[in-house]
Amino acid sequence: MTLETTTRTNVKIDRMWAIEKSKPEAGLWKIQAPIPSGGPKDVRIRVTAFAICGTDLHIVDWDRWAASRVKTPLVFGHEFTGIVDSVGAEVKAVRPGDRVTGETHVYCGLCYACRRGLQHLCYNVEILGVDRQGAFADYVLLPEQNVWKLHPDIPEEIAAVHDPLGNAVHTALAGPVAGLKFAVFGCGPIGCFAVGVLKASGAAWVAAVDKNPLRLEIAERMGADLTLNVQRDPIVKTILASTDGRGVDGMLEMSGHPNSFREGFEALANGGRVSLLGIPSKPLEIDVAKEIIFRGAVVQGINGRLIFDTWYRMEALLLSGKLDVKPVLTHVMGWSDFEEAVELQRSGKAGKIVLKRDHP
Ligand SMILES: [Zn+2]
Ligand SMILES: [Zn+2]
Repeated sequence: MTLETTTRTNVKIDRMWAIEKSKPEAGLWKIQAPIPSGGPKDVRIRVTAFAICGTDLHIVDWDRWAASRVKTPLVFGHEFTGIVDSVGAEVKAVRPGDRVTGETHVYCGLCYACRRGLQHLCYNVEILGVDRQGAFADYVLLPEQNVWKLHPDIPEEIAAVHDPLGNAVHTALAGPVAGLKFAVFGCGPIGCFAVGVLKASGAAWVAAVDKNPLRLEIAERMGADLTLNVQRDPIVKTILASTDGRGVDGMLEMSGHPNSFREGFEALANGGRVSLLGIPSKPLEIDVAKEIIFRGAVVQGINGRLIFDTWYRMEALLLSGKLDVKPVLTHVMGWSDFEEAVELQRSGKAGKIVLKRDHP
């Protein structure tokens, strides 16, 4: 990994600490960047904590997806929380001092999708830390329409992971849940969050599937009734045996792995729901007649979070006390531990890592 650190001594007032993808190659750069200033509808947020996502690892590694999507230089990072620092002249919903986080899909409000209430599918979407300057920095800018004011009872670590938790809430609640049986394939942070959301929403039974024992342990702590290790357990057979041979009513695919698609459909009840969030690295083949048509399966792609339906539900679930996401938040570190946190995230030996500000 390439790493260039600029000195933090003699920091000028108009410069800020930031993590940047400076050049189109693998690595990350700690830089002194100009503090961003926005327009009349923008909110400047002083970031207090952030979390590292799989997307950030793609950007650090500069894989095919990152190379095709990201324009350098870019301050990246999109999972964050902070305090409103300043607001544009037309901003009404928040004031300096408010604790906030934000919807990271910046939508145009004017396109076909937006005007039909599907802002999460905006044709002109700009994703924070991917298409526009992100949150691994002292300050980040967001339009007022994307800022989410936090309830005082939501702790900072949880505020920092509203983006991935929102993915889980959107996926889990994209169909009926109460009294139904589910399998979650892929127990990274979003999969583990989803297990908790399903259980908090009245799911009768949830199986969690992964190959990583730590992740399965976290899924169990999030309420999974059964954990299955793909390297050891017969997945389809065990799920069918646990559901009177019927299969699960819902399959949440959070891994993008081809085997999960195959086994997920095979373990699905007739008329079941398949909610796909994990991104396969290449096109997949599926027997459409057998797995979808004759099974009467409802297959849905899940992108982002519903703006802002998902957010209100997420807040209500957290405040109800029924959804405790702490088992997923395995590490709290400082911003200066950024490289270490990236390696830890990559190693699979962590759930979600939250990094808190460790400089004034
Ligand atoms: Zn993320
Ligand atoms: Zn739009």
